[in-house]
Amino acid sequence: MKPTMRSLAGLAGLLLLASCQDNQQDAQHAPREKGQVFHWKMVTTWPPDFPIFQEGAEKFASDLRLMSDGRLQIQVYAGGELVPPLQVFDAVSAGTVEMGHGASYYWAGKVPAAQFFSAVPFGMDAHGMQAWLTAGGGLELWREIYAPFQVRPFPMGNTGTQMGGWFNKELHGLEDLRGLRMRIPGLGGKVLAEAGGNPVLMSGAELYTALERGIIDATEWVSPFHDLRLGLNDAAEYYYYPGWHEPGTEFELIIHDNAWQQLPRDLQRMVETAATATGVWIRAQMDVHNREALAGLLQQDKVKLRRFPEEMLNELYRVTTRTLNETAARDKDFQRVYQAYDTFRQGLRAWRELGEDAYREARSTARRKHSNEDNS
Ligand code: CA
Repeated sequence: MKPTMRSLAGLAGLLLLASCQDNQQDAQHAPREKGQVFHWKMVTTWPPDFPIFQEGAEKFASDLRLMSDGRLQIQVYAGGELVPPLQVFDAVSAGTVEMGHGASYYWAGKVPAAQFFSAVPFGMDAHGMQAWLTAGGGLELWREIYAPFQVRPFPMGNTGTQMGGWFNKELHGLEDLRGLRMRIPGLGGKVLAEAGGNPVLMSGAELYTALERGIIDATEWVSPFHDLRLGLNDAAEYYYYPGWHEPGTEFELIIHDNAWQQLPRDLQRMVETAATATGVWIRAQMDVHNREALAGLLQQDKVKLRRFPEEMLNELYRVTTRTLNETAARDKDFQRVYQAYDTFRQGLRAWRELGEDAYREARSTARRKHSNEDNS
């Protein structure tokens, strides 16, 4: 029998209905096979709707829902929605929630050695952190440091090298940092204090008003894309680079030990794989958005883009080494991680000087030479 138009329309309708039901099933993430369904909570240190960072955590959860066919369902809460941003580690450690996303330098007060797994002034960039954490022994060490807290860390994202920050005055030398009230977290803040400045801790939401009203003289935040979203370009004139204090800040996914052990092996592997994929996504988003934001920023006459004076950077480097050594002398774990980090960094430096560094230098020299020829 030849199909009539009416029966074809009927068939199309049935197919449409079936696909709607599929979609509904996807939307509810109902498991299609028998098996345990895990309903987990994830808290983050990021503001609600914060682009790239909070967005990345939410993408991670929705990818896992899909990959696990609904067997692992993670409800994501931004900073302050379930627990305050700086209590994410405690909430995961206590098992109040199963998961968290943030950066390990936020827990410096509790675990000073944790800072090596986020950002070290004049330390490794995103590229180096990835090598150390993925294949250079860094992750094993990180897990040892977090083990007493029943927390299991995974790398999940990196900001790339940040900007040095917004200042309400021009900087000529180290003496300009004396008495400077600057929002700068982690080891960078410690180094600023050693150099005579006054590091201040405040959340991103407070920065614009504090800088604009002169409660602080300077602030660092992230890089052009996130800085412009806070309007920091309207609060101070001078925008300094490079971000010596955060050369490539790594983000962490943290999971409570018992929750992790309850997951079947296939779901564990999905979590690891999704964390890696989300990390790549975050890193790429940073470059794509900063590229666009910088182009817009360069067109604003009122923003004065400046490189930190070379002598100041040299001095900050010296103060950084002293600060790290002094902290290591007081804290055994800090000492142990510092040693491993530094050994890896030195070996990597020797290799990279012949590879990427030499290539970049050669390319800059060649480009300058040819652009001079083009201009002459
Ligand atoms: Ca920062």
